[in-house]
Amino acid sequence: MSRMSTIVVLAPGLAHTRLGHPENHGRMVAVQHVLEESGILQQVTAVPPQPASLEQLKRVHTPSLIKRIRTVSTIGGGLLDYGDTYATSQSFELARLAAGGCCTAVDQIMTGQTRNALALVRPPGHHAESAQVSGFCLFNNVAVAARHAQAKYGMKRVLIFDLDVHHGNGTQEIFYEDDTVLFVSMHLFAPYFYPGLGSLDEMGQGQGYGYTLNVPLPPGVGDDGYYRIFNELIWPKIQAFQPDFMMVSVGFDAHWQDPLANAGLSLTGYAQITNQLVALADKMCNGRVLFVLEGGYHLDVLTAGVTNIIHSLRGSEEISDQFGPLPYSETDVTHLLSKLQQRHLPK
Ligand SMILES: [Zn+2]
Repeated sequence: MSRMSTIVVLAPGLAHTRLGHPENHGRMVAVQHVLEESGILQQVTAVPPQPASLEQLKRVHTPSLIKRIRTVSTIGGGLLDYGDTYATSQSFELARLAAGGCCTAVDQIMTGQTRNALALVRPPGHHAESAQVSGFCLFNNVAVAARHAQAKYGMKRVLIFDLDVHHGNGTQEIFYEDDTVLFVSMHLFAPYFYPGLGSLDEMGQGQGYGYTLNVPLPPGVGDDGYYRIFNELIWPKIQAFQPDFMMVSVGFDAHWQDPLANAGLSLTGYAQITNQLVALADKMCNGRVLFVLEGGYHLDVLTAGVTNIIHSLRGSEEISDQFGPLPYSETDVTHLLSKLQQRHLPK
């Protein structure tokens, strides 16, 4: 099925960069280069990002966090935490564009300019908590967009599906007590692997209990394991939730070639999950789905993965996968799946 042009919002944050850091501007330079060379940018409508307003940021973040990022930028940049989350002199404005760009995409969808959209933004967002930057992330882009969809357009229930290899601890923290946002994260969960959160017992709190679904994967889970968990756990969970709007935090670092992790997804595996999410959005929420870029540090995987998302959003079956599937047998997920089904799916 081919459909109207999809929308891509580009906020590449090129002046937010640090030499030798894995999350540097080169990621987005590579993405832009490939999108231009392949001609795929001509098949989408590129929409410029609007910076997030203070009001939009404050729906998610504390005033002191916002002030801290602005201050560090004003003095020329530096480290924002004890780890390796940095800011340059322009990072405050660029982070506002990244979060605001996701809201721009929501506006485009909600005003009927497009059914679905992709926000290619930096710095990434899903590790940023309400009061704390973390893991290369300044503002939580997808969370700001979810609150924007709720506040401005009355979207009652928003799904945030996190498909980055790292747990979306920031997004989880922001919505932990909230039953209007279902947060689902599939991530590698192993000793010493960042951020060390996202166990299966973290299921939300108070009213939000049951609205956080963590899938803590052992190393080496590939396409088969991801499909099984998606089809037999996540799909029914999403159907029970009946979202009005779907958002996907997509990082390509769960690919088996990624240098920072050892999960086992292939580009074809990513594309098939993406296709299912787009189909589910068509069925459940009038097509409303927004993909927001998070991590991904193997540049050829990242660029092919982004291209595949655009194909999928346009209703094209085309998949580019020059690497093929995980070249060794993958870790079985049967036991993990049944433990999660017991917790999350009513009998
Ligand atoms: Zn990641």
